[in-house]
Amino acid sequence: MGVSTVTAGRIRKGQIKGQLGEDCITEMEQFAYLGLSKTYNIDYQTPDSAATATAYLCGVKAQLGTIGVDGRAKRGDCLSSSDAHVDSILDWAQKRGKKVGIITTARITHASPSAAYAHVPERDWESFDGQNFNASHLAQGCRDIAHQLVVRTPPIDLLLGGGRRYFYPVTTFDVEYPSIRGSRIDNRSLIDEFWKGKYIWNMTQMNEFELGTSQPLLGLFEPSHMRYESDRSQSGDDEPSLSRMTEFAIEHFLKFDQGFFLLIEGGRIDHAHHDTKPRNALDEFVEFDNAVGQAKRVLQAKGVLDDSLIVVTADHSHVFAFGAYSSRGSNILGFGSLENKNVSDIDHLPVNIITYGNGRNSNSSRNATYLYSINMNSTDYLAPAALPMNAETHGGEDVPVLSGYLLCSFAQRQWQLLLHLKLIQIQFAHRTESQVKNMKVSSKIVFFCDLVMQFRGALANDDELDQLTLTALMNIIWSISFHDDYVDELKSNAKFLITIKSLVNDDGEAWVEQYVPKHMSLVKKAATGILWNLDEDNPARAIRVVEPLPTVVVQTNRPSTATVKNKRMRVMVSYSHADTDFCHQLVDALEKENLFDLWVDFAYCHTEDLWEEIGQAIEKSDVILFLMTKDYQDSKSCRQEVMYTKDSLKKRFIPVYVKRDFVASGWLGVRIVGPQYIRFGKKPFEPTVKDLVKLIFEDKSEKSSKTKDSKVSITVSPVEIKSDENDKPNQELPKDDHEDSNQFNHKITPVPVPNSKSIKTWNSKDIADWFDTNKIRRELKEIYDFQCGTELLLYGRCLEPDWQSEYLDIREQFSKRYSATLYRTEFVRFVTAINQLEQLQTKPVSRTCTIL
Ligand SMILES: [Zn+2]
Repeated sequence: MGVSTVTAGRIRKGQIKGQLGEDCITEMEQFAYLGLSKTYNIDYQTPDSAATATAYLCGVKAQLGTIGVDGRAKRGDCLSSSDAHVDSILDWAQKRGKKVGIITTARITHASPSAAYAHVPERDWESFDGQNFNASHLAQGCRDIAHQLVVRTPPIDLLLGGGRRYFYPVTTFDVEYPSIRGSRIDNRSLIDEFWKGKYIWNMTQMNEFELGTSQPLLGLFEPSHMRYESDRSQSGDDEPSLSRMTEFAIEHFLKFDQGFFLLIEGGRIDHAHHDTKPRNALDEFVEFDNAVGQAKRVLQAKGVLDDSLIVVTADHSHVFAFGAYSSRGSNILGFGSLENKNVSDIDHLPVNIITYGNGRNSNSSRNATYLYSINMNSTDYLAPAALPMNAETHGGEDVPVLSGYLLCSFAQRQWQLLLHLKLIQIQFAHRTESQVKNMKVSSKIVFFCDLVMQFRGALANDDELDQLTLTALMNIIWSISFHDDYVDELKSNAKFLITIKSLVNDDGEAWVEQYVPKHMSLVKKAATGILWNLDEDNPARAIRVVEPLPTVVVQTNRPSTATVKNKRMRVMVSYSHADTDFCHQLVDALEKENLFDLWVDFAYCHTEDLWEEIGQAIEKSDVILFLMTKDYQDSKSCRQEVMYTKDSLKKRFIPVYVKRDFVASGWLGVRIVGPQYIRFGKKPFEPTVKDLVKLIFEDKSEKSSKTKDSKVSITVSPVEIKSDENDKPNQELPKDDHEDSNQFNHKITPVPVPNSKSIKTWNSKDIADWFDTNKIRRELKEIYDFQCGTELLLYGRCLEPDWQSEYLDIREQFSKRYSATLYRTEFVRFVTAINQLEQLQTKPVSRTCTIL
């Protein structure tokens, strides 16, 4: 519904009432605020409803055809979507105890409504129909949209629309049309099996439903989309109009005194446009506007209109145009008026007011007999189109956003905030993309620092939006401060540093906590993290920056307890707070063993000097367990803990995979290469804990004889336990793999380095050049996500003693991700080059390195 539809629809509405039309005032244009929304998708200039609904309901831009998932999900690719699920405004409302509902004249599983509750990389996966969605998708862990709808917990309180055949097996005939069957081939009758509320399929049943009944209501009034309003109103079918459903839903929700979120979609304006049927399109618009009016009237009658937020908008536009110098009051569906100046000055025939840029009727005849014979008021009439397309396409221009009745009450401030959040998210992404992207690095950092200073006062004033903005900005800077390349830039900004220090000591933010999204931290915590990353005087950091190349101390696999009899070992657990439950479970099990002292930060949220305390705990510990999950990898606090443990203090650590399938990548993947690890989820819990305990004691004597100043030693265990993995190097190699696996130890081919920059200052682009120069597969760069030269060097060091098992891991990741084989020769080339790199960086130091 673009602007041209709103204007033509307004004229149609006025003309239905017998007016001229142009000066009619629609319900939606009586709102106080009007704006425009950009509709493009991540990958398409002209969007589709799946990705746009994801944008306006979930707050993230997405790829065309994908629903309820972020930009990582590729269309039709189940695996790419499994980690990409995003919550919608409906989820947020439900979590806050509001009633939630969806009304649409399309199928309830169609793209727009489903973005409020489903997560799929393909909008056509509405049902398990065997064609669009099939058993292979199921096996990969995806579910069809209808299935997701009925099993959702808690259920959506009210759902009214079409599409019931998607919930029934092909063996079942429709309740209203005996010739139509269900569409599912999994033989499931979803409503009978899963739906926990009431189910209805006609208006009579809807009218009989007792308003205020707490059980959820699902009403599916047609096998597919509901009927066009002009057909419905003429047929006398037992099917509600959009405005009747709106009235029903709001009256129902107002019986509960808890507030509500309701999505109302006039879903068929779009369908009529695709068919180039202007009569249907405009009548659908009129009914949609009637529904807006009905909503206002019901809220007004109950005295809650001023306490409600109504937003009217569209997902996208269409290539629908109207004009032709028609005179005032011309039938909007017809020709420009028949005065001379309103016929074509080329063929002197009348000109249609409504046309489409493309569509079915591109060969529309231009002769007087035909033109005067057609009934342009008919629902069958197809408007002429300039270019041939079976279905008219969406339009790419902005769509209107209309809103009013912005609120004053405290409860409603939250709603306003949510709306602002969504807008700012999209605006911010856009701003970052179009303005910040082209800036130089230093200007970018100055830009963000300036913004932090501008919003510094947010904690003291009462503006939630400003406080959220500050929180987000602090998290951005914290991320930047992890990279050595940018540290100097940040440190040189004295005013900024003062601001950060003052934020470390600011206590005014406690109440903002509830609004901080996942993977963001509170201002104070971020400020502490930034300061630590920038602090030259921090001894740990100084070690990290100036450290010489380490001597690799290779140990035997023989546990020794001789020197530690009198001292209990200290073990720290580093975990993401999303995994608190698992952490408790593990700590309970380890405490039962009573073999060592455990330090875990369960008081996380209440600790004042959080980093100080964690830093000290790491320093005092003999071994640190990293409980690795996706959340762990996404957490900046965990990243700081890992860096402090490994990069700065060279402490011994044990990577512990919490889940069966997680594969560490990026900064985490680089740092955990080498030592033995434990994976939960493959064997039962208890034996895995035993393995972990055994591993903790494995080289205890070596560790306990070290002090924290022994900065040039790292421990690389020669044999991995991998109790759960059966990988046997060399056994399952591809046929063409004829390289001597030790070759790289003996012979190193000199490889060029792309520029004279110090490797430590390399950025992502330099690394890419280095990959190209050395003919190393670019996919490896993607997998490792190297961002700076230091990471590359560090990885090289970790890799050297045990590159073969790394090769097997990476080969597996590689084939999962790219469905291709990473040959050993290719990996050897990479290892060789990275080894060479280190020698170029620093003069070789003597080292002991043995591969057992
Ligand atoms: Zn469409």
